[in-house]
Amino acid sequence: SVARRTPSRRGSMHDVPKELMDTIHELEKLFSVDINKMHVIVNRFVSELEKGLSKEGGSIPMNPTWVIGYPTGDECGTYLALDMGGTNLRVCEVELPEEKGQFEIYQSKYRLPDEIKVGDSDQLWDYMAECVKQFLIANHEGQDLSELPEMPLGFTFSYPCTQNAIDHGILQRWTKGFDIDNVEGRDVVPLFEDALQRKGVPVKIVALINDTTGTLIASAYTDDTTRVGCIFGTGCNAAYMEEAGCIPKLEHMKLDPKLPIAINCEWGAFDNEKLVLPRTTYDAHIDKTSPRPGQQLFEKMVAGLYLGEIFRLVLVDLHNNADVHLFQGQDIFGLKLEFSLDASFLSDIENDPWENLMEVQSIFENKLKISTTEPERKLIRRLAELIGTRAARLSACGVAAICKKKGYTSCHVGADGSVFNKYPHFQERQAQALREIFNWGPEIKNDPIQVVPAEDGSGVGAALIAALTLNRIKQGIH
Ligand code: BGC
Ligand code: MG
Repeated sequence: SVARRTPSRRGSMHDVPKELMDTIHELEKLFSVDINKMHVIVNRFVSELEKGLSKEGGSIPMNPTWVIGYPTGDECGTYLALDMGGTNLRVCEVELPEEKGQFEIYQSKYRLPDEIKVGDSDQLWDYMAECVKQFLIANHEGQDLSELPEMPLGFTFSYPCTQNAIDHGILQRWTKGFDIDNVEGRDVVPLFEDALQRKGVPVKIVALINDTTGTLIASAYTDDTTRVGCIFGTGCNAAYMEEAGCIPKLEHMKLDPKLPIAINCEWGAFDNEKLVLPRTTYDAHIDKTSPRPGQQLFEKMVAGLYLGEIFRLVLVDLHNNADVHLFQGQDIFGLKLEFSLDASFLSDIENDPWENLMEVQSIFENKLKISTTEPERKLIRRLAELIGTRAARLSACGVAAICKKKGYTSCHVGADGSVFNKYPHFQERQAQALREIFNWGPEIKNDPIQVVPAEDGSGVGAALIAALTLNRIKQGIH
């Protein structure tokens, strides 16, 4: 069938000189994740998911979110949703009507300026509150904000938080390159609420939500075979529904053992102990120079924020390596700036049809002021493939681990994020890795476990979670 084609055409390498070819082979060895390795990773991943649920804990946080069960279809009303992701800020007004699945959504996107990500805490909350305010003004034209009824808001804050209730969350640590003082270790809800109040914005935060949990709930709303929600974007993570009885660290709460609670895995922290992932010196460098060394080691190998940087580090290294002579005699200043290449740069390279790689040539010339020979372009192209494929295969290990842990042999995994949606071949490579891990032979026509594009988790998902929460409060269950 079509899905079983090898993901991308391999150009001919016959004209590549021996030194470059040797280098390509070395890179292939460094970045490939074979089936044996994937088995080792998946098995370890399963035990780390378990450990995260235990009283002692492990490196994967496995945060209970207090999102209790899937939506039923009884969720209705108008809700605000605010998504503070790694790249953008989005405000939505979502209408959930009586009829299940028929939602309407109005939204505005705001850029999250880079300075804010490493600025100070007040600046962050004020900026966000101002965006919500501007959105309300634009959507309720002619009305005085102070006369609007207080609107319930689902706040998607996609960083690891310890939650003792659905409308509170203590930031464990910043991820995705954020580094703002005086937020880690604090409850982010009152911090943001204070800013909203200062600006007279009439909203009430009813739920603090992770993007993966929103994705899980939004996807389950329209597809009841959904069991996992994933983000493969600037960061990488997953959420799934666990039974309270399988969460030893919640034992003291004496919950009904059958109670379904969404768990935000925070699997970006997988293998922080550096035991199984095939880390390269480039991965080590990224970690060492990041604002939080030793954290999110899995994420740093697979997430969109890092793919371009891994690629850049390899090229700089090959240029400096006298045996390879990549871009010989050229000043590569254009490649020297940290984080100057993002995942879309790699996407463009992988989108070039394997001919003379003219696309790659013009990208390097225009963006980096580096001229390339055809053999160099082949190395560049192959390197992008290797980095993109490694990300897809490692992330498949996480998906497989959750399914294995839960005993799911057939389900949908709702996925969102720029890498999943835009990176060439990511979805096929990930699906191929799942086939290898589960050993589905060619006799199986449809993959039993499929990662599919999700519903809008931080818009519709956040509204659904806000509605679910208010329904529970109405029924007197907290
Ligand atoms: C965060 C997660 C989030 C993921 C995807 C990670 O860096 O820790 O909370 O779900 O990025 O946005
Ligand atoms: Mg996002």
